[in-house]
Amino acid sequence: MRALFADDDPISRLIAQRALEALGHDCLVVNDGAQAWDLFRSWHPDVVISDLTMPGLTGIQLCRNIRASASGGYTYFVMVSSHGGFDKILEGMRAGADDYLVKPLDSGLLEARLIAADRVTSLHRQLARQQTELEGLNQELTAIARRDPLTGLGNRRALEEDLDHLEARVRRYGHRYCMAVIDIDHFKSYNDTYGHQAGDEVLQAVAAQLKAHTRSGDEVYRYGGEEFLCIFPEQSLATGALAVQRMQIGLERLAIPHADSPTDMLTFSAGLAMLDPDHPRSTSEVLKEADEALYSAKELGRNRIVEAI
Ligand code: GH3
Ligand code: MG
Ligand code: MG
Repeated sequence: MRALFADDDPISRLIAQRALEALGHDCLVVNDGAQAWDLFRSWHPDVVISDLTMPGLTGIQLCRNIRASASGGYTYFVMVSSHGGFDKILEGMRAGADDYLVKPLDSGLLEARLIAADRVTSLHRQLARQQTELEGLNQELTAIARRDPLTGLGNRRALEEDLDHLEARVRRYGHRYCMAVIDIDHFKSYNDTYGHQAGDEVLQAVAAQLKAHTRSGDEVYRYGGEEFLCIFPEQSLATGALAVQRMQIGLERLAIPHADSPTDMLTFSAGLAMLDPDHPRSTSEVLKEADEALYSAKELGRNRIVEAI
């Protein structure tokens, strides 16, 4: 362990240094609290053993400083004093000390205290490792909970969370955005003709196409079974429609046969709506408009993009 010993009494310093070094600890010895505080911040000892009464910064103040500092690991603090009265001992413990020793220093007792210090600091290190691991796992779980397992896109939960953030940003900064709801045409009959497994592969292929034609900052979610939702921040209806057209061309290039489609190919329909900051509305209202535009696209014969009026 790294042990820092602070005491204005030279005899105590000598005893402590010999004992600490004999026990194989990495040890620094100083003769006042201010030096101890400086060294604590640059050297990060595992254990500080400090005299209670020292000129300048006292052991009590040093201990309070250490407890208030947000240093990496836990520092075990042993208060040393020639005052054996309980009031002094309690004062030290209340200031944050883990243990105390009454002078004159005894190397055997110091060794015993350091065994406890080693145990406690090891436990703190283990706790910190577990905490980091837990935080990592938590992040992974959150990411899994937000992802659609089939397509790898954000799922409905991710969409709802992100829409809340989007709404807050729009309210604060007055940005505009365009939203597109995309639905595969005649997908039920695709499943019926080619099987559910082939249907799943099509969903993956369409998701990849949509994703491939977005720019950084755009988002694509799996909104329902064969429905996707795209958010194009800072885009108008016209530029959002261009992005969806690129997706449509991408899907045409894949040329996925669909015997039950008028074009003999798999197609999608899309409905677009936008938020104009001059006419603020909730994201759910924009979504409703995009859904209505999609409905019109279906009514008008599918395989088309309709912009909300
Ligand atoms: P429309 O052109 O009007 O959109 O007709 P549609 O057949 O695409 O729409 P409908 O809502 O009638 O059917 C959607 C189909 O999507 C029904 C359902 O079995 C299928 N589906 C939903 N989720 C999945 C999935 O995860 N995998 C597969 N293979 N099919 C799915
Ligand atoms: Mg003293
Ligand atoms: Mg459909």
